[in-house]
Amino acid sequence: MAETRSAVKLDTLLVHGGSVPGPAGATKAAIVQASAFAYQSAEELEDIFKGRAIGQVYTRIGNPTLESLEKRLTAVEGGIGGIVTSSGMAAISTAVLAIVRSGDEILSSSSLFGGTYSLFKDTFENYGILSRFVDPVDLDAVAAAVNEKTRLIFVETIGNPKLDVPDIAALAAIARRHGIPLMVDATVSTPYLARMKEFGADIVIHSTSKYINGTANSIGGAIIDCGSFDWNSDKFPHFAQFYRKYRNFAFTARTRKLIHKDIGACAAPLNAFLHGEGLDTLGLRMERHCTSALKLARFLKGHEKVQWVNYPGLPDSPFHEVAARQFQGRFGGLLTFGLADKAAAFRVINALQLAKNLANIGDTKTLVIHPASTICADYDAPTKALMGVSEEQVRVSVGIEDIEDILEDFAAALAKA
Ligand SMILES: *Cc1c(COP(=O)(O)O)cnc(C)c1O
Repeated sequence: MAETRSAVKLDTLLVHGGSVPGPAGATKAAIVQASAFAYQSAEELEDIFKGRAIGQVYTRIGNPTLESLEKRLTAVEGGIGGIVTSSGMAAISTAVLAIVRSGDEILSSSSLFGGTYSLFKDTFENYGILSRFVDPVDLDAVAAAVNEKTRLIFVETIGNPKLDVPDIAALAAIARRHGIPLMVDATVSTPYLARMKEFGADIVIHSTSKYINGTANSIGGAIIDCGSFDWNSDKFPHFAQFYRKYRNFAFTARTRKLIHKDIGACAAPLNAFLHGEGLDTLGLRMERHCTSALKLARFLKGHEKVQWVNYPGLPDSPFHEVAARQFQGRFGGLLTFGLADKAAAFRVINALQLAKNLANIGDTKTLVIHPASTICADYDAPTKALMGVSEEQVRVSVGIEDIEDILEDFAAALAKA
């Protein structure tokens, strides 16, 4: 059903969009657990290598199971092309390296997933790619930070763990004005909250390990090309050859044929199949994650032991207005809250029975973590502050259990705070 009418609603698109029947009319994509694909003649394989014919060659470059997920995610996001990768970090590394070269700069949100911050700040800097970190909610600061070396604006649609919500359309306008692409990591919002192309994003990143997979059974990532950026630009001479041949598809072509092929962070076919299984139920799960997170946020807000609650769905959140507009009244499944101090946060985490203490989000199970001592432990105090991380803070990824049981779990644990 590759030509799913674009007018169908998102929940329908998640189930049907871009999907092609498997062999013998199977309603599932085939899991093609193979490394390589054979051809009858040397001429055929030569044609494929020279781009005169289309065909699979080797799973690092492409595979029917991966292609199936790529087509579905591309249809869901309304893009023109997609590449699935071995992890969300692989998707970010691959997509960014396809755009920037040594000496170029990334203008990045200061509110980032820890792995992305480390990639930009520690790893890329060693290769001559500098990142400038700016509060993405402060549009004047973003506009002022663009310089002649900037080749990319990178933001998270809902910052993890700060849970700030930048105005994507406004950031896209800044990027457009400077002739550079806007790349958004939409892992936390998922396509269920918004399709970022509609707000002007040029490239959408997902860690499919989280909500898209949904049951925490495998790691994966995706790069979706919205097809909106004009790569025929003096700022991107390294795209010229690809633009001549592939026009609008220059980004997907250069990324797949060069960077993705060379870096080699391809997804495993079985994992891609599992992420596709998750996509089918993303709408249902997100609906529950969102309503339950709002209930937990309200409950925590009224609890005497809780000092503060950060959830974009609460009307007093500084990000509520933008989030309400951008995400059509839905606010995602993540929240953070503060206790008296670190010791109290630890006591609550240790007392929770249903909520699991681990480093993940987007599972069916409710998950908690103390970010300051775990996922953000490597950063100094000013960096932690920039990332919205504090000692008394607990992050919750609200699951899809009956919320009454989760509220009871938190009520009992908070009694020990
Ligand atoms: C988890 C996560 C990533 C990294 O994804 P992996 O699949 O773990 O490599 C990137 N961005 C965000 C917002 C995440 O939550």
